[in-house]
Amino acid sequence: MSENKRHGRRIALVTGGNKGIGREIVAQLARLGATVLPGARDKARLEDGVAALRADGLGVHPVGLDVTDPASAAEAAEWIGREFGWRDVLVNNPAITGGRPAEPSAMDLDRLRLVFETNVLGVLTVTNAMLPLLRRSASVVIVNVSSSVGSLQRAAGGEWAAMPASATYVPSKTALNSLTVQCAKELTGIRVNAVNPGWCATDLNGFQGQLSAAEGAETVVQYATIGPDGPTGGFFGADGVEPW
Ligand code: NDP
Repeated sequence: MSENKRHGRRIALVTGGNKGIGREIVAQLARLGATVLPGARDKARLEDGVAALRADGLGVHPVGLDVTDPASAAEAAEWIGREFGWRDVLVNNPAITGGRPAEPSAMDLDRLRLVFETNVLGVLTVTNAMLPLLRRSASVVIVNVSSSVGSLQRAAGGEWAAMPASATYVPSKTALNSLTVQCAKELTGIRVNAVNPGWCATDLNGFQGQLSAAEGAETVVQYATIGPDGPTGGFFGADGVEPW
């Protein structure tokens, strides 16, 4: 039996774990005692980013993973299976905005494809690659990091009236919310939720957000650490249930 199993440690994969909210999710889960596997495209940069956490004696083990590349996800799953044997927590964190212009009428379809490849298809790619490992654990949690802008109810109610129309990031998060519900429906026994970290100062928004990345990560970690009686198929934020 491995060291992790003996000590009852949770094993968590956090994709996009090299900066922003993802990096803070990695740090917070590790401080809670989990063995954390931050995934990122550039493993060398990731190694630098987690050096401080490892120096503190935390169990952080980087894994190279581009969520748009099924071969990379399969390779990561194979490495995790070999090194750790199973996994309990998956945080699907990465997203790209697709840049500007984002209006539907101005859309470059290749740009749109890359946004959906990363923000939506990437989640399914990684989740499916990791399912055999997740199924080896008795208590599994998947968190898909979403956004309040993905809420159709908020958009339809005019809450985002001041925001420019977007055919990229915004619909990708709506699709992610829908995918979350469908995964929760199929994956009985696994708790799958979408979580909005709130508006945080990160690269994604030119550091305009009002919350720190660490504050946003706290909300995600709250749902990545729910117990067996926790919710599934929901959309949550710092104040609880988010409108679809
Ligand atoms: P950042 O831009 O700071 O970080 C994005 C992360 O995604 C990076 O680690 C980046 O890695 C990674 N990434 C991008 N593409 C890929 C890929 N193909 N494969 C693997 N990793 C990839 O963004 P945030 O930390 O702000 O965003 C994290 C999550 O929080 C996203 O889902 C975002 O939508 C959500 N969110 C953020 C809000 C905010 O205000 N910041 C508000 C609401 C939701 P690399 O260095 O390799 O590019």
